[in-house]
Amino acid sequence: MNNKQQIEKMTDMMSKFIALVSYKLPDDVENKLKELSDEETNPLAKTIYNTMEENQNLAQELKRPSCQDTGVLQFFIKCGQNFPLIGQLEKILRDSVYQSTLDTPLRHNSVETFDEYNTGKNIGKGTPSIFWEIEEESDKVEIYTYMAGGGCSLPGAATVLMPGEGYETVVKFVLDRMTSYGINACPPLLVGVGVGTSVETAALNSKLALMRSVESKSENENAAKMEKLLEDGINAIGLGPQGLKGAKSVMGVNVVNTARHPSTIGVAVNTGCWSHRRGKITFDSDLNYEINTHKGVKL
Ligand code: SF4
Repeated sequence: MNNKQQIEKMTDMMSKFIALVSYKLPDDVENKLKELSDEETNPLAKTIYNTMEENQNLAQELKRPSCQDTGVLQFFIKCGQNFPLIGQLEKILRDSVYQSTLDTPLRHNSVETFDEYNTGKNIGKGTPSIFWEIEEESDKVEIYTYMAGGGCSLPGAATVLMPGEGYETVVKFVLDRMTSYGINACPPLLVGVGVGTSVETAALNSKLALMRSVESKSENENAAKMEKLLEDGINAIGLGPQGLKGAKSVMGVNVVNTARHPSTIGVAVNTGCWSHRRGKITFDSDLNYEINTHKGVKL
């Protein structure tokens, strides 16, 4: 395959992968929704979980998005320095979003800010969003694909705390957002908490937290403790599925942290909704692929 053929092949595969992410939830989310549904005793909540399951089954059968809001596409890439299409990857991803917009189809969700027109392509200034990490001595690429819907993005917030405010204030900040805006994000939620120096490092960490499995735990013991405390605290609100009351509010709480300036605690929160459409695909240098989040599924 020459370079042009490789670009076409990867664009086509990424377009199909975006379609897959739109209509099939990742295995961890499917399993967790089933678990929450089985545990639920509130009759209305139970009915909503059953409707969600039926919705998912139909979405897969018809190959149509499981929610009408297919979001703004966001990609989190770990790219080996020797991956052959490293220089073309941004264009490949943008073109695949456009292709998937036509084929899947995806809702038109890219409005040029201030000019106030919808591009109709899901491509605009800075969209899709692409975040890079370069890996040394590697020739593969790992791509997390995420559909950032309006409702699930709405509770997002970031701030910088004085260090004296401590980690208790991190918890308070997250709980305040969840009690005021959590309901907008179609619970049960996956809550991502980021901690770092400033708002943008905390915000990126909070979104990376949403890329982790709903059952995962932070490797840092204290962060894992905060995850558990927040999970119990947010569950105690009893939002239930779609915010109509129920036993649980969340699928999980994930905390991602980086080192921070000694004089600040940057904190951010981001939420994923019940229809948490994220997928991870890995390509080797010959463009053989593996879908890490949806076992046994082929493009
Ligand atoms: S919050 Fe999620 S499920 Fe609800 S409308 Fe938005 S994308 Fe769809």
